[in-house]
Amino acid sequence: MPPVVRFAPSPTGYIHIGNIRTALLNWCVAKRDGGQFILRYDDTDTARSRREYADAIKEDLAWLGMTPDIVVRQSDRLPLYDAATAKLRDAARLYPCYETEEELDRRRALQKARGLPPIYDRAALKLSDAQKAAFEAEGRRPHWRFLLNHRRVEWADGVRGPAHVDTSSLSDPVLVRADGSYLYTVTSVIDDIDLGVTEIIRGEDHVTNTAVQIEIFQALGGAVPAFAHHNLLTTMSGEGLSKRSGALSIRSLREEGFEPMAVSSLALLTGTSEAVRPIGTLGELARLVDLSRISRAPARFDPAEIEVLNARLLHETPYGEVAERLAALGVGGGEAFWQAVRSNIVKLADAKGWWEVVTGPVAGGAEDVAFLAKAADVLPPVPWDETTWSAWTDAVKAETGAKGKALFMPLRRALTGLDHGPELKGLLPLIGREQVLARLKG
Ligand code: GLU
Repeated sequence: MPPVVRFAPSPTGYIHIGNIRTALLNWCVAKRDGGQFILRYDDTDTARSRREYADAIKEDLAWLGMTPDIVVRQSDRLPLYDAATAKLRDAARLYPCYETEEELDRRRALQKARGLPPIYDRAALKLSDAQKAAFEAEGRRPHWRFLLNHRRVEWADGVRGPAHVDTSSLSDPVLVRADGSYLYTVTSVIDDIDLGVTEIIRGEDHVTNTAVQIEIFQALGGAVPAFAHHNLLTTMSGEGLSKRSGALSIRSLREEGFEPMAVSSLALLTGTSEAVRPIGTLGELARLVDLSRISRAPARFDPAEIEVLNARLLHETPYGEVAERLAALGVGGGEAFWQAVRSNIVKLADAKGWWEVVTGPVAGGAEDVAFLAKAADVLPPVPWDETTWSAWTDAVKAETGAKGKALFMPLRRALTGLDHGPELKGLLPLIGREQVLARLKG
């Protein structure tokens, strides 16, 4: 059966490179086996969810090359949740509670003082009908908790291997708030059943949820999908990434001019058994994914690596893949120019700077006037090609006796205004004889 997976962000901010790790793992697992990739917006928190973030997530995924097969919003699916939670109530797995936040805080403080774990004591289960009616008469509306089975829940985790959580160590989770709104814990399960999700791949911050949700799957009579919890991307100092800070958001990386595959390669390969390197396409990346070989340690990464990967990726990128974007940047010179400069750029837009060097004007060359005049005298006639540079510098060497740095550096400075840059054998024909002569003469 082809896998059906989902990426389920809450649209409460721009997604970052850590969120994309989850999306990519799901996408890769689905796509290499002809499965389906669902984008599900977990937007039941209406106070924090925003449409613009939802749209931005879709755009960010599209920029990275991930087009969902199905898009659903939890806010559109309330009747489904009403029906499923009614089923849980009928089965007495969902029970009404009337405690206020303050009461719960007080109880937790007491438990703590007695050295007990702060687990909900299920006091609400003991309420008589009369007590419930009294609360209702006071104007209190119940929130609803799921009655856990208090057992050892086990699953074969795709990343972590055999996993288990004893749900007797957990509070019965609230699934429905007093205002009738639903919590992610239950809506997620209802959707996963409804959409036929076969595999849930998500961050290891959800391991405890998994035990609870397996109980909910079973209470609803749904097939329990496979689970895999991957390690989370962190900075070198071990700090997690946050949607709120906007740091390393996909949006900002795109605006800074990084290539989508540099971002995806870093997001996916860090903290796995694969060397972190630029991979050309998502399809190739998908072939490298092996959930069982993802490390259990946090996937630490240095944001500076994005630049390194980006540069390495561009150095290998054929002209045809960037021709349109170069044209949009106003960069000419065709394939010859791209071949000449691609190993000297970090971001594609850097090509523009080298194109300006080709087209001029450039400042420089004033220093060694006599040397440059001699060099001009032996400049080969057109037509020029890749061999012209060495023919010319051989002639300059013979004429002036200069060699090594003393030969090349004044020429480079005169022609480019810089003392570093792409190989001149590629640039020389692009600059052209007339301009080269003009630059040699200052
Ligand atoms: N909305 C949840 C999150 O972003 C989804 C977790 C899940 O995949 O079930 O963490």
